[in-house]
Amino acid sequence: MKSNLLLKTLLLSFALLFSALQGTAVDKNTARRIEEEIEKHKLEIIKIRRFIHMNPELGNREFETAKLIASKLMSLGLEIKTGVAKTGVVAILRGDQQGYTVGIRADMDALPIDELTDVPFKSLNPGIMHACGHDIHTSIALGTAIVLNSLKDKIKGNIKFIFQPAEEGPPPGEKGGASLMIEEGVLDEPPVGAILGLHVWPENLGEVFFSPGPILASSDWFQIIIKGKSSHGARPHEGIDSIVLASQVVLSLQSAISRAIDPTDPAVLSIGIISGGRRSNIIAEEVLLEGTVRTLSKTNREKIPRMMENVVRGITQSFGADYTFSYRKGSPSVYNHPELVKIIRPTLLKVLGEQGVKDLKPQMVAEDFAYYCQNIPGFFFLLGVKNPEEKTIAPLHSPYFNPDERSIPLGIKIMCHLLLDILEHQSQVDSF
Ligand SMILES: [Zn+2]
Ligand SMILES: [Zn+2]
Repeated sequence: MKSNLLLKTLLLSFALLFSALQGTAVDKNTARRIEEEIEKHKLEIIKIRRFIHMNPELGNREFETAKLIASKLMSLGLEIKTGVAKTGVVAILRGDQQGYTVGIRADMDALPIDELTDVPFKSLNPGIMHACGHDIHTSIALGTAIVLNSLKDKIKGNIKFIFQPAEEGPPPGEKGGASLMIEEGVLDEPPVGAILGLHVWPENLGEVFFSPGPILASSDWFQIIIKGKSSHGARPHEGIDSIVLASQVVLSLQSAISRAIDPTDPAVLSIGIISGGRRSNIIAEEVLLEGTVRTLSKTNREKIPRMMENVVRGITQSFGADYTFSYRKGSPSVYNHPELVKIIRPTLLKVLGEQGVKDLKPQMVAEDFAYYCQNIPGFFFLLGVKNPEEKTIAPLHSPYFNPDERSIPLGIKIMCHLLLDILEHQSQVDSF
């Protein structure tokens, strides 16, 4: 990780030069070859997607998924590494021409949800479902490897394919996900200059959504225990009512968010668990509150935990109660490197047309792709997967989530163009 600072500085100066360069690199002939390769492999890739969908695995347990991906990549002749951050698979595709390395990341894990769709390739693992579309992400990355493997003559550098476990979080007590991949050197050897990622999104197929700067929120966890004193429900003055204090804490935290945080810099504080008390006529000794804090800026991320503890301390102290306050930082916010966005936008316009490229208002959901963006320039976009003929689509994490599979060949096409164009730009920068 020591070389990271130097690498970052170098990358930033390259990125600044990027923006001076115009146009895209994939010519008509290459674009046609990409189409032909996608057409040739489309059915095979959709079959792989369905297999992964039928056999979903939870975070850090993606054994069969990883095995399938590794064997497919191996058959292409790519250099592969397995067991990265538990079950991760990393492959390098070297182009015929030397150059930089660009990464593409896909997540492989499913969710603990019972699938309720009626698709013929419904989950065979009870209580586990690909309800966040990571099966689509994995298939797109794999398809991109298959297609670009036959276009090596057009690759000016290397492409690192990163299949990551546990995006939804590792099981309790385990490490995992993007941060562990980075800890285990996924961005080194060869050093990755920029990284791409995507997420399926319940909007129309044929549209992508992104903007420069922070687009997804940081996600932090907190727990507050309010410690009062038990007494008879009819004699509250002999105890300290932790339920009344907890109620004040809940409301005051919402007031603090709305009154003490800059309204133009969004922040969300949600309490998802509140529990306490044993009997209707006993003053509760303790109440436990647990929740999540979402922010886009560093300023809010630093400020909010301090503010929260002040609120809890003030309320509990004024009634002689005690408290514990635990706050754990999760993934940071996903940051789209503005200079990288400048290179990428023309490519997306070329592939999807004006009507397919949409601005994204920052969303308060989180994605651990953020850890890559903390280390190197990253670009993350949302890929529409709703059949435009249908009025609605079940949301992400719903047991009815059923993305349109036509998003797979489209996702592969987008990724192929982006990767080739970015490498072309980098090679031009290099020749300065
Ligand atoms: Zn998810
Ligand atoms: Zn997801």
